[in-house]
Amino acid sequence: MSLFLRVTATCTKCGKAAETELAASVNADRREDLRDAIIDGSFQSLTCSGCGAAIRLPAHLTYIDINRGQWILVEDTDRLDQWYVAEAEATALYDQAFGRFAPPLQRQIGAEIDARVVFGWTALREKLIAKQAGLDDGILEVLKISVLRNVPAPPLNDRTELRLIDVAEDGELLLRWVNGLTEEGIVDLPLNRELYETLAANLGPWEELLADVRKGLFVDMNRLLISPPAQGMAA
Ligand SMILES: [Zn+2]
Repeated sequence: MSLFLRVTATCTKCGKAAETELAASVNADRREDLRDAIIDGSFQSLTCSGCGAAIRLPAHLTYIDINRGQWILVEDTDRLDQWYVAEAEATALYDQAFGRFAPPLQRQIGAEIDARVVFGWTALREKLIAKQAGLDDGILEVLKISVLRNVPAPPLNDRTELRLIDVAEDGELLLRWVNGLTEEGIVDLPLNRELYETLAANLGPWEELLADVRKGLFVDMNRLLISPPAQGMAA
């Protein structure tokens, strides 16, 4: 079931309040239109009636598409720094719904589902597009890392993220550096899909890295860049 909550959003530019609906869960099996809106960027977008500014509501929802095998906890970009907390929450939610604490029938369904946690609309979009194009999201993250190693000066800092934006008919993968907080695009990086296929066929040297990227529900290179606080340290 898709669930929306009535909320009052306030324009950050002019302060005008607007009544709107905030998505708490999206079921793409029943609402293909919502999936389309996530991909075209119109989902949870509105225009301020006071000043015309574009407003994108913060993300905090579960997204499910049993048909395509996706369950995703979507959190706002400002939680990225604490991804390990959100990942633990996502794991607990998923375990109850389709994982080890779910009823047998649900667990059976869950066996075909990739569970993930993402931060922001661009990261959610990326997972939907990758799945649709038949790309393994873990390998895609390793591809990003391998590309970054070969770019002289990538515009990478703690506020930029490299995201898959589109997969063209001819197979070209369009990646884009985006501002991690505002999700605005910075610069495009188109890649030939052959790079992905070559990497996927020769994972040997990348296996350790791939295992690290896939260690939990946050399948993202950022889990290697942003370290959780050390555990088990003596007080
Ligand atoms: Zn406004």
